[in-house]
Amino acid sequence: MSKQEPVIASNFIRHIIDEDVAAGKNEGKVVTRFPPEPNGYLHIGHAKSICLNFGIANQYSGLCNLRFDDTNPGREREEFVNAIKDDVSWLGFEWNELRHASDYFDELYNYACELIRQDKAYVDSSSAEEMRLLRGTLTEPGTPSPYRNRSVEENLDLFKRMKEGEFDDGAHVLRAKIDMSSGNINLRDPTLYRIRKVNHVRTGDKWSIYPMYDYTHCVSDAIEGITHSLCTLEFEDHRPLYDWVLDELATPAHPQQIEFARLSLEYTMLSKRKLIQLVEEKHVNDWDDPRMPTLIGIRRRGYTPESLRIFCEKIGITKNDAWIEMAVLEGCIRDQLNTEAPRRMAVLDPIKVTITDLPDDHVQTLTFANHPQNEDAGTRTVPFTRTVFIERDDFAEIPPPKYQRLVLGGEVRLRGSYVIKCNEVIKDDNGVITELHCTHDPDTLGKKPEGRKVKGVLHWVSAAHAVSAEIRLYNPLFTALDPSKADTLESIINPESEIIMRQCMVEPALRQSAAEQHFQFERTGYFVADRHDHTPENPVFNRTVTLRDTWAK
Ligand code: ATP
Ligand code: MG
Repeated sequence: MSKQEPVIASNFIRHIIDEDVAAGKNEGKVVTRFPPEPNGYLHIGHAKSICLNFGIANQYSGLCNLRFDDTNPGREREEFVNAIKDDVSWLGFEWNELRHASDYFDELYNYACELIRQDKAYVDSSSAEEMRLLRGTLTEPGTPSPYRNRSVEENLDLFKRMKEGEFDDGAHVLRAKIDMSSGNINLRDPTLYRIRKVNHVRTGDKWSIYPMYDYTHCVSDAIEGITHSLCTLEFEDHRPLYDWVLDELATPAHPQQIEFARLSLEYTMLSKRKLIQLVEEKHVNDWDDPRMPTLIGIRRRGYTPESLRIFCEKIGITKNDAWIEMAVLEGCIRDQLNTEAPRRMAVLDPIKVTITDLPDDHVQTLTFANHPQNEDAGTRTVPFTRTVFIERDDFAEIPPPKYQRLVLGGEVRLRGSYVIKCNEVIKDDNGVITELHCTHDPDTLGKKPEGRKVKGVLHWVSAAHAVSAEIRLYNPLFTALDPSKADTLESIINPESEIIMRQCMVEPALRQSAAEQHFQFERTGYFVADRHDHTPENPVFNRTVTLRDTWAK
């Protein structure tokens, strides 16, 4: 089967790089990086950044590093580091080098001392509150700290003692000496280092001070020889600081920071902090709940790496924040599975149908194509017997207008089998239908019935051969287009976001399915065998997406 791959469309970043390469900048080399903080699981927004950074490196025969931005000890865990590595690999990318910002703690410290020696950084002993008051506002300039004119010697001494753990958290910070009246608040003597007496996953108790993101990021990029440092738009106002640090330090390289719009997906929250809340407050089962926008959640839902790469190409890279409709994401997996997924029959909510004019021991082996448009997908056998299951809602006692499924006295075709006619409805004492009695037209196997039109075609499974299975249906987790605006999560959680059907009956061929195998269940959608819970004895399938776009109203 043809594997689908994204069509590379150009964008403003590729234009910039084309020009840089043509001009021979960085000797024509392209080096990028993906720099997650290991404080949670990656989500589909990160996929956009991964596809961009690794995609650019691949396109220009360049390199892309995976760098863990691990400068917040306490929030960061090894579990997240491993999960992030798995996610990047699963998406189909190979990093050049695996780095950690903490690899550069010594260099970062030495560079900070260099800034102090140039009188471009100083130790401020004000409290956080005092610093906040002196910072000014968007309309008013800040005021210099009383510690701003400390001597180089005093600053070097204090900074060294901060490093050696002599002071408590918050006693001092190291600040860049830039411009307290700058129109850009990021340039009003930003903090470069703070004291944090916390053990670090990788450096243990070696450090009592940790560098801030803005300082760490540009220096790490420079050390790694990154040529194009691609980040999301909220860092646009930080670019002058990025450039200031690298200009003052005369680092071996001066990467170019370029910002692009982050992904915002309708009815979805893309922030690790908010996603943690969903897990901790048990609104979902775990990080890999198929309703989660995490990559492990989306994977468990049945999305493929190809479909996500195509999605990221399709939405493109721009400078404008825009909401992407869920239908765009769903369309990508639907298109892929439509061409690739084998077809099967599965009855989610079964009702028994007895074909009274067949003998008790009737077993007929029918051959079904696995894919209607692809002969290479081969065939399978499907047993047909006197008792079959159909969907409960494929029969109606009082049919709504234009109903083309089974009614009392009416006919339908059992897919790939015969036309049957319903003659009798059996109910229990409560009036619930328990069984339908039908007869079949033996002259309709692979043939149209004589002299009449039968429109409805139903999926079915032989009761004697059916395999019982659990099928999980998923709907959007939130009822609000922008869930981040809601006062409480409770108020916007969709109570029908997960519907578990435990009495499903599926065709016997599905018993052999492997975890993560994809199928189209005729008429009900695209499904995947659950990564964790599916076994041949207890099959479990998750609905990835419906057959048609349900968002179009
Ligand atoms: P979160 O708020 O979810 O923690 P983050 O931006 O703090 O996200 P990082 O681990 O710092 O997460 O992100 C690593 C990279 O992924 C950054 O370069 C960041 O810009 C990018 N990224 C994060 N979220 C998105 C998004 N929604 N769209 C595009 N890129 C994103
Ligand atoms: Mg972050």
